Amino acid sequence: MSFAILAAGALLAAAPPDTVPPAPPIESRPFWSGTPDAATFDRGVTRRLETARRTLDRLARQTGRRTLANTLRPYDQILRILDATGGETSLILAVHPDSGMRTVAEAAKRRVSALATELSLDRRVYDGLSALELDDADPQTRFYVERTLRDFRLNGVDRDEATRGRILALRDELVLIGQEFSRHIVNDVRRVVVDSAGELTGLPADFVAAHPPGPDGSIVLTTDYPDAFPVFTYARSDALRRRMREAFDNRAYPANMAVLDRLIARRAELAGLLGFASWADYATANKMVGSAANASEFIERVAEASRDAAGREHARLLARKRRDDSAAAVVNRWERSYLEEQIRREDFRFDSRDVRPYFAYPAVKQGVLEVASRLFGVTFRRMHNPPVWHPSVEAWEMLQQGTLVGRFYLDMHPREGKYKHAAQFDIRNGVAGVRLPEAALICNLPGGTPGDPGLMEHEDVITLFHEFGHLMHNLLAGRQRWVGLNANAIEWDVIEAPSQMLEEWAWDPAVLAGFARHHESGQPIPAELVRRMKQAREFGRALTVRQQMAYARLSLSLYDRPPAEANTDSITEASTRTYTPFPPVPGTHYQASFGHLDGYSAYYYTYMWSQVIAKDLFSGFDRADLLDPGPARRYRDAMLVPGSSAPAARLIEGFLGRPFGFDAWQRWLETGE
Ligand SMILES: [Zn+2]
Repeated sequence: MSFAILAAGALLAAAPPDTVPPAPPIESRPFWSGTPDAATFDRGVTRRLETARRTLDRLARQTGRRTLANTLRPYDQILRILDATGGETSLILAVHPDSGMRTVAEAAKRRVSALATELSLDRRVYDGLSALELDDADPQTRFYVERTLRDFRLNGVDRDEATRGRILALRDELVLIGQEFSRHIVNDVRRVVVDSAGELTGLPADFVAAHPPGPDGSIVLTTDYPDAFPVFTYARSDALRRRMREAFDNRAYPANMAVLDRLIARRAELAGLLGFASWADYATANKMVGSAANASEFIERVAEASRDAAGREHARLLARKRRDDSAAAVVNRWERSYLEEQIRREDFRFDSRDVRPYFAYPAVKQGVLEVASRLFGVTFRRMHNPPVWHPSVEAWEMLQQGTLVGRFYLDMHPREGKYKHAAQFDIRNGVAGVRLPEAALICNLPGGTPGDPGLMEHEDVITLFHEFGHLMHNLLAGRQRWVGLNANAIEWDVIEAPSQMLEEWAWDPAVLAGFARHHESGQPIPAELVRRMKQAREFGRALTVRQQMAYARLSLSLYDRPPAEANTDSITEASTRTYTPFPPVPGTHYQASFGHLDGYSAYYYTYMWSQVIAKDLFSGFDRADLLDPGPARRYRDAMLVPGSSAPAARLIEGFLGRPFGFDAWQRWLETGE
């Protein structure tokens, strides 16, 4: 059996670009088959975790010579179960309409995490993997084992038993704290009441139509993205934008303040037990950046590179504000998007509302599918009556030369109790010949209700391309020999590069003309409009870079010092003042709803690190013909298909033919190109 898998793996590694896998995966049923109720779902998770535990016991008791067959294979099987049960419970917790189901998923997710933590501290497994003879193994397998052993050490497997016990308890507690932090954010949707339609002046007509006044004439808006972002960008009423900003930046406040303090304190304790000076040092040890000091240096380098350009952009915002208010001395946080929009209209002759009619959700979705199909040599097929968690969810199959190679779900519009951001969820990672990868895009885009054409902002179009970049990475990497070599196991600070790079396609006139047609006239979006849009929308990029560094510094600073010195209000305020010209909004505490402070903890710098790499990767494409499959296939095979089977720096070098650098990013910062 192990020989057969080995042979299949070797065959795949040597295969030319478009060769299909030799055998259909064994596990290929849609994960939600039978559309289970809460009790059935719970039993399914329990059964699978029991299988994982039995496999773990067998692996631990194994005596004699350690081989791939008797040690690495069962280890990877356990990971496969944890991967799928973890992915499914995370997704269901984020999206299921029934709160009873979400409660079951939340508890199940804790059990999955508990077993994963236990495994990560199991000395017997570590010793078994350490004893593997790898002389005859392929390079990917050797890399996998070496990386796994390093991660075991980072998890504390080599500490004494009492310390391991405390680590285990802390990790379990951190899962609970993190869940509490997210729950507060999801559940705290605030209402912003508008006295009359007059206060919505400036907002697009379809937005106003979608928010009719109640019997008393007042209109209720919420802090959900489809309400909040148009208000920030378009509302002429400064008072409305301010009220929305204050409501938005106070979500989960005060509930999350103590939760965040506990999160920081427990992580600091855990890092100390593991021999690190701070959680920030611990959390960066297995990243490309390598240490908290390097992350800090990176933040300063980026901040410095964007300082002058951001200063010029800010001066322009202030000058524009002074035309309405000659005494103005500052630009406030709730004014930035609105003023940028005014400058785009007046100086760049670009009005965001002009492009919305071209971006009806159904057409954009189709367009993204077509672009991905052409670039990556895959086709998509919609499933009829798929087993899904909500009737609005679509299921799609991905095929390569007629063979099923992956499946994904599109859950694209807001719903009560549903995750509030846009994200790609990997439901389960694939394994060559064994398991079909599945993933889901969870977004909160306009549309999805009868009569609403679903007109999207260009920003939403970018989001869709971005999330599709994650999706392609996960699905295309789904045919490695081991589940542990999946795309998400790559160094975390490069994880955004494939998604950020695919955003470039959302700016290209020829690409957009292929699908962005006026929802009434059917005319394709004019190239001249796209070019003006790009110039206009690139205005403010340096301020955005600085804002990102404020977030990155906040994230790092909360975790790079003793917790007693990590006052979240003062660090939030200091990072805002250091990197942005917009004064902190009095009475707000946006750290309380900054979900990444749980998931990303100290390494929010990741987004910028990935962006530097994404800009460099994009330099490997022909900007004059972004739909040329040539470079796209090379990129697919060099960067996406390998998953995490080699260090990220080596994969990048494999595509670019040289190590990555700052030049392309710097050029973009200076020229917008
Ligand atoms: Zn992303």
